[in-house]
Amino acid sequence: MNRIDETTWYVDTEYLGHEQLIATAGLNTDDGVLLVDPGPTTALDTLSKKLKEAGYGWDDVTGILLTHIHLDHAGATGTIVQHHAPDADVYVHERGAPHMVRPGRLLSSARRIYGDDMDRLWGEFEAVPDDNVNVLEGGESLDIGGRRIDVEYTPGHAQHHVSYFDGSSGTAFIGDVAGMRVHGSDYIVPVMPPPDVDLRGWATSLEKILARDPERIFLTHFGPASDVDRHLSVLAERIDAFAETVRHTLDAGEQQDDAELAARFADKENARMRSRADERYWEAYERFGQPRDSWHGLARYWRKHALSGNG
Ligand SMILES: [Zn+2]
Repeated sequence: MNRIDETTWYVDTEYLGHEQLIATAGLNTDDGVLLVDPGPTTALDTLSKKLKEAGYGWDDVTGILLTHIHLDHAGATGTIVQHHAPDADVYVHERGAPHMVRPGRLLSSARRIYGDDMDRLWGEFEAVPDDNVNVLEGGESLDIGGRRIDVEYTPGHAQHHVSYFDGSSGTAFIGDVAGMRVHGSDYIVPVMPPPDVDLRGWATSLEKILARDPERIFLTHFGPASDVDRHLSVLAERIDAFAETVRHTLDAGEQQDDAELAARFADKENARMRSRADERYWEAYERFGQPRDSWHGLARYWRKHALSGNG
């Protein structure tokens, strides 16, 4: 367990054996422990083990705060509620909540992407019982066991994305809206998968985070970062650069097919990552940073906006 302060901490879920790829945060309240983004079901055994090592049992877990419903953040939620913490309150944005309760469509679209690899990567996704769900719109000030947590709607990466601002630790739990950062490095990359990329919404989300002036941001991929202004300004530049590069290749009407253009884009970005990050993270981050998916996410975005440039 890694401490942020006396009552705020996180664990490395060691997803598929990879270090520092998916983090789950814990916040202690007067009533029990809140988990932020419990991760996928394939990392649940490790999460259980690490909670136990830190002195917590599932009985202590009274709430789960989801930044968004992508499987690497939220996949284990239903399993936790159904088998380990039946009274836990699950907080999720209104656009994500229906999919947590009735995950059929979410899972069939994930299966289209991951195919036969779905179970190995993510494991089972069980439904969250309706009664456990607390639906958020953004703008709420929650008081959970004496701990004040403000919620903002932060689309851009996903339309069902919120961020949590914890007054007690000064930490903003911002999921994927501030991208990924290889732990301990200055390599920052936006993650822009289909189908929800929203450049205008993203810019507004980053402004909301800055306006809150948190002491640190906490990235699911991976961990806390205290150079908030710098991180967010680098991220904004990189979002623009990604967006412009993809727009340019589409505008230029190049003859290659999408898969080829996406692969070329990914090769370039991965080379950049390799020049900045520790070698032991390369493989996992190349797979997880998904510059290839970001190309497709942006291509979809620009085609929807008719390449008008009016993001
Ligand atoms: Zn995500």
